[in-house]
Parts: sequence; structure tokens; C-alpha cells
Amino acid sequence: MLYHYARMTTDTRPKATARRYPRPRPRWRNWARNQECAPVAVDRPASEDQLLESVRKAIDRDQRVKVVGSGHSFTGIALTDGRLISLENYQRVLETDREKMQVRVQAGIRLSRLYEELAVRNLAVPNVGDIAYQSISGAISTATHGTGKDLGGLATQVAALRLIAGDGAVIDCSADTAPDIFSAARVGLGALGVISTVTLQCVPAFSLRAVEMPMRVDQVLEDLDSLVSANEHFEFFWVPHTGWALTKQNNRTDEPATGRGRWKEFRDDVLYSNVAFGIACRIGRWRPTLVPWLVRNLVPGSGPVEYVDRSDHVFASPRLIRFYEMEYEIPIDAGKEAFTRVRDYVQRSGILLTFPIEVRFTAADDIPLSTASGRASCYIAVHVYEGTHYQQYFEAVEDIMDDYGGRPHWGKLHFQTAETLAQRYPQWDAFQKARAKLDPKGRFSNPYLDRVIGPVGG
Ligand SMILES: Cc1cc2nc3c(=O)[nH]c(=O)nc-3n(C[C@H](O)[C@H](O)[C@H](O)COP(=O)(O)OP(=O)(O)OC[C@H]3O[C@@H](n4cnc5c(N)ncnc54)[C@H](O)[C@@H]3O)c2cc1C
Repeated sequence: MLYHYARMTTDTRPKATARRYPRPRPRWRNWARNQECAPVAVDRPASEDQLLESVRKAIDRDQRVKVVGSGHSFTGIALTDGRLISLENYQRVLETDREKMQVRVQAGIRLSRLYEELAVRNLAVPNVGDIAYQSISGAISTATHGTGKDLGGLATQVAALRLIAGDGAVIDCSADTAPDIFSAARVGLGALGVISTVTLQCVPAFSLRAVEMPMRVDQVLEDLDSLVSANEHFEFFWVPHTGWALTKQNNRTDEPATGRGRWKEFRDDVLYSNVAFGIACRIGRWRPTLVPWLVRNLVPGSGPVEYVDRSDHVFASPRLIRFYEMEYEIPIDAGKEAFTRVRDYVQRSGILLTFPIEVRFTAADDIPLSTASGRASCYIAVHVYEGTHYQQYFEAVEDIMDDYGGRPHWGKLHFQTAETLAQRYPQWDAFQKARAKLDPKGRFSNPYLDRVIGPVGG
């Protein structure tokens, strides 16, 4: 757990010294430890009244305000030098509608806790990403997604939202009530208001049969269309400096859960994927020339691993190694070509990488600033170990993605601006209209948002 929380640090000087100087501001850092800020105040509401009070305090004092979920964004999207609202005490399930299969939750609930609460109610979320540390509001606000060509990201599962606007007004919205606000606020980047509660449309709990197996990457590319369409959830990770990809094929099943057994799960998810991989990353950072040899040894020599488990146990796994990431969405039909160009760049440039390149797929949706807005999507994600320079690598990949009108994940590193992004989102203006209405004074803005969606009314 130690590794999975963004940090809040306060003054640790001895009292006598602390008294002579003005009290320093608390400091906040994200999970990846590449973003940091010093807010004027930190509030930790446990009820909606307290959440509202925080926003009102910010209004009275003319402060900017930012909510932070679990700090798992790599960008400065959650930073503020104003008031910071932490949702760590705001994580309860408030209502369950068994007939509609909907739950209403406090916005800060962590996905891991949400999945447990849903399992008790015999419910689940149909498609989620590969970790479960995020808050539900943080995850939907940045268009967090998993993989599955017929399934959308987490925000497409939102049935209703309650949100506090820049003037302190509380707004309930759904497809029937204030539909323009609802449409934009599902992926609001934290720019449209403070989300207080989220109503999620769930599905009956289900199990997945997971098949994880190494394949030659050329074979994956040759069979890509059929792998993507034959599996409910398909993704692959190309291991740089090798001809191998690790593939994951997850499909619903009524078979009873076998799990992998506690030892195998620990061995695969903790020892291999985190401890051994972490050691390889450290050695690679110390001696980059060893990287090709190290990654070749990371490809499992054995055949497929197969097991059946509860859906959320298959989707998410622990991440103990810190890294920096950029992820781009491009039209699904461009996926193979774009990936091949990224692979060629890695091979040509001589860049040495320990982290695999991840490729996923989702269905189109109708949310203005969702990365999948209006088109079926392929996602290509590149990572480097923490403390490694990434600018040259990420910029080169971004140049390739630009050729396909690529849309960067809002929570992951990129170099775009509002100017370059506006034309890539057909409903950009609808989002800006909602923003001007809900937050005309830019109370929920920050430098990252000013860069990527522009100043309010700008
Ligand atoms: C190890 C790791 C694995 C990841 N895997 C995936 C993946 O598989 N798929 C994927 O798509 N992404 C993935 N991500 C990215 C991650 O899902 C997003 O960055 C997500 O936003 C993080 O959620 P959070 O709760 O930490 O939000 P934060 O980073 O804390 O906040 C994100 C934004 O949401 C806003 N926000 C949060 N709560 C509220 C609220 N109540 N009201 C208004 N605004 C709010 C914040 O102000 C900020 O603007 C991963 C990130 C990491 C570090």
C-alpha cells in the first residue's frame, strides 16, 4: 500500500524552529512523484455538506480549488496553489437500486473498494483499466479505460452525477436532467465543478477466463483484426528489443473461478511483474547497455497461463514500480500502422527501453472530451522507469500520433495545447459551453488545464 498513495507532507521541523518562521504550506505529490504543489489549504470532507463548505470557503476567499482523487495522474491535472480537496474520507456507497443495477457512491471511492462493494451486491463494472487504486471521480474525469472493442471507458457507465458548480450551486444531471451538463461532465477533467456523487450503471457480476501468452509480435500484427474481434478484451505488450509480445485474451465464462492460487498470483503479479521487473529497471538505468539482454530475459519461456476469476481480479493487478507514461488514442483502423511506426522508431533510434509498449482497443462513445469521442479506438502507451529522461522518446511517439489526429490521455504525459487539440474533438465547443456556464471565473482551473483546454472563455 505504501507505494500507492500520493503523498501529503507537512512541516516536520522541531516546534521551536517552526514558531520563528511562517508556517509553510502543506505539499502534495502525485503517485509518480513527478508533480508537486503547495496548496494554501487542504480539506478532507467526509460528507456532502463538508464538501460544499470547502467550495464555499474557496469562493469567499477568492481561491482556486482542485479536488484530488488518488493522485494517479502523471500530468499536472490535479495541481493547485489554491485550495485542495482530498477525497480520502469520502468513499461510501450511498444507495443501491437493485432493479436498475445502479449504485450511487461518494466521488472519492477507490475502485478497489468499489469493486468489493459491487461484488457483495452481485454486481460489477463491465470494463475497467489495469489498476484499481484510482478514485471513481478521478478515473472518469480523465476518460480512464480498459480494453474491449465493443466496450467504452468507465465514464460511459455513468448514469448520473451530482456536481458543485463554480458559484457553489449543486446540480444533479443525467441523460434526462440537464443533459448538456451531464454529457460534458462525465469526462470533465476536473474543470466543470466538484463531483460529489456518481451513479454507476452496473452489470451482473461475471467471471473471466484469462489467457496470457507470449506470441511473436509479427504474428500478433498479422492476426490483429481477428484477435481484437474474437476476444471481448484483447491487449498486447510488445517487449522492446525482442520479437515478442505478451498477449492477454479475457472472455466471459460461466465456469467456476479457479484463480491462479495464492502462490502463483503472488509469483506472477508481485515477484515477476514488480520485483524482478523493478530490479531489471534499476540495472537498466545504471547500465543502459544491458537493457536488451535484461528485457529478453523478461519474456516468459513457458506457454500460456490460463485461469478463471472474478472480473475485477482479472482486469487489475498491483503496480509497485513507479514510472512515467504517455498514452495516445488513435482511430482503430490506424492502430496497426501506428504501432509499426513506433516499433520502427524504437529499433532505428537506438533508444534503450525496459518497459513494454501497451496496445488496447475500445468502442466509440458520445462524450465530448472522451478520447474515444465519436470513433472506435486503439490506444498505444509508452512508459519509462521513474527518474529516466522521457522527453525525446515521448515527443517522437507523439509526432507519429499527430499524423492520425491522436488524442492524448488527459491523465498521462503529453505536449499538446488547446490549439492543437481543439480540432481533434468534434464536440470541443459543447464542452467549452458547459465550462463557461458552470465555471465562468475559472475557479477549477490550473496551469495544466489552461494549457490543454485554454483559459475559461478564451
Ligand atoms: C500505475 C497506473 C496505472 C494506470 N492505468 C490506467 C489504465 O489502465 N487505463 C487508463 O485509462 N488510465 C490509467 N491510468 C491513469 C489514471 O487512471 C488516471 O490518471 C486517473 O485520472 C487517476 O485517478 P485519480 O483518482 O488518481 O485522479 P487524480 O489524478 O487525483 O485526478 C485526476 C483529475 O480528476 C479530477 N477530479 C478527481 N476527483 C474529482 C471530483 N470529485 N470532482 C472534480 N474533479 C475531480 C482532479 O481534479 C484531476 O483533474 C493509470 C495511472 C497509473 C499511475
